[in-house]
Amino acid sequence: MTASRLIIVPADPDFVPEPATLGALRAALAAYAAPAAIHVAIHSHPVFIDPGGVGEIVCPLCRELIPDAWWRSALSRAAAGHHHHLLIRTPCCNAHSTLNDLIYEYPARFARFVAEVANPTRPPSDEETLQLQELLGCPIRYVRVRR
Ligand SMILES: [Zn+2]
Repeated sequence: MTASRLIIVPADPDFVPEPATLGALRAALAAYAAPAAIHVAIHSHPVFIDPGGVGEIVCPLCRELIPDAWWRSALSRAAAGHHHHLLIRTPCCNAHSTLNDLIYEYPARFARFVAEVANPTRPPSDEETLQLQELLGCPIRYVRVRR
């Protein structure tokens, strides 16, 4: 099996859970990995969580392919503003959306709060996902890093 990382982020890029929940989160994540393999980070602004290449990107509104060059330039603009402004106008249908809401072939996210598990023994079950969401107080998304 190749090395992999499972990254857990809030669905809302700006959400940061209460610090008091982090101990319980670490305990819950210990079901999938050694404690030393669990890293939690809180950033001052949403950072791009790259799954190791995003593959094809599709507009969530009209399902057209988003050109890679357009996306890279939108990503640089957002990075220049420290990802505070993920808002975009889609190039295909000129609609309001965000970089976080585009559909990535390999799911990518933006987040201030990042919980990372190195070499998890297995993915969280649906029930465990619900428990993690309850614990953190927000809907969560997973980014699986293939590296
Ligand atoms: Zn579109």
